Amino acid sequence: MLFLSLNKQFPFSLNHLSSGIFCSKNAIFSVPKVIVCFILLLPGYSLYGRSIWVSLYNSRQVHSIVVSAYNGPLTVMADGGLQYTIATGQAVYATLRDGKIWISNMQGQEGSFERLTVQGADSSTIVRLRPVSPQSEARNYEGTVSLGAGVDRIQLINRIDEDRYIAGVTEAEAGQGRAREFYKAKTIICRTYLYGHIDRHENEGFHLCDEVHCQAYKGQCRGRNILPAVVATRGIILTDRTDSKPILAAFHSNCGGETESAQNAWQNSLPYLTPVTDPYCNSSPSARWQKTISLDDWIGYLVKNGYKLDPNTVTDFSFQQLRRIPNYTVDKFIMPVRQIRTDWQLRSTFFSIAVEDGNVVLRGRGYGHGVGLCQEGAAEMGRRGFKYGEIISFYYKNVNLVPVNTLQIRVPEFD
Ligand SMILES: [Zn+2]
Ligand SMILES: [Zn+2]
Repeated sequence: MLFLSLNKQFPFSLNHLSSGIFCSKNAIFSVPKVIVCFILLLPGYSLYGRSIWVSLYNSRQVHSIVVSAYNGPLTVMADGGLQYTIATGQAVYATLRDGKIWISNMQGQEGSFERLTVQGADSSTIVRLRPVSPQSEARNYEGTVSLGAGVDRIQLINRIDEDRYIAGVTEAEAGQGRAREFYKAKTIICRTYLYGHIDRHENEGFHLCDEVHCQAYKGQCRGRNILPAVVATRGIILTDRTDSKPILAAFHSNCGGETESAQNAWQNSLPYLTPVTDPYCNSSPSARWQKTISLDDWIGYLVKNGYKLDPNTVTDFSFQQLRRIPNYTVDKFIMPVRQIRTDWQLRSTFFSIAVEDGNVVLRGRGYGHGVGLCQEGAAEMGRRGFKYGEIISFYYKNVNLVPVNTLQIRVPEFD
């Protein structure tokens, strides 16, 4: 096990971060900053050093997969010290059979192994994976990919440099073409999640999975702005001011104009996840949604959930949320809006209801649970020139930005 320890040689404070840690004048490197920045962005340069182990296609139970050399030859190391090369443009086919991984190449040569490790000459060499059973999209991975014979699958693990992992997650979750300061805020959120959950899959032999259970990760980051944003915020995470632990850095697509408290969404009060009025996300496409349900279906739904319809009175089923409120109320019947959202698969809990022509019309705002950082609002703040620190403190209250190596966080190690 490796414990991150206080490293006094890592001299950065918030003031330095906006210009990039290694590019700041107080940085530990005495080389001119232009050269340092250049070296850091060279393909193949190991950006940080720590490897993150990520399980790929984690819920797919991959049985057969094509591994190909995309932009350079790959070395395959198998049990018993066997080693061979996949030439650029060539591929091997791997399938799980009788508890082993059977490999065949284009010449039809076969072999069976417990475990294989595939890697290129440097970290910019891509290992391209394309699961064929079950079929899944092809993805490109940097670093090392290992294939292990599991009970019900080929266990695919990407050992990837932390910075490249953060860049990949940031792109998978926020897309390309956003402002640099927004990406910086996102990279801090991704890193906070990473260190807050670094032991989540420890018993399975890796740190995190590649799906929303942990953080979406689809391999190599291609966005030009993203890796520099990772480098500029390197090592920084968000902690709760009250206990100095990594925060639950919740985020969502669009809050609809007001973020939701963790208390309302999850019955879990957190001092940094409190409602914020957000003027920045209103013009984005997912700011508004609408759903129409017949009044009969709506009443049937309410009755099924315990509502007692009185045929002798005229009932008003309408409902208004100018600000977020936790419950829909009709007569004395109360239903949490989050349950309505789940049952009808609505985009958000932030909706009003009008009765029109024998229907109830739900007019909603935002997309997602609404807690924490509103991604479309934050992207707009970045576009308008806000700094990443301002973006973060707008959505998260009572938090600190701290270097992760000043905290006692246990990082599991695997072999
Ligand atoms: Zn997971
Ligand atoms: Zn918003």
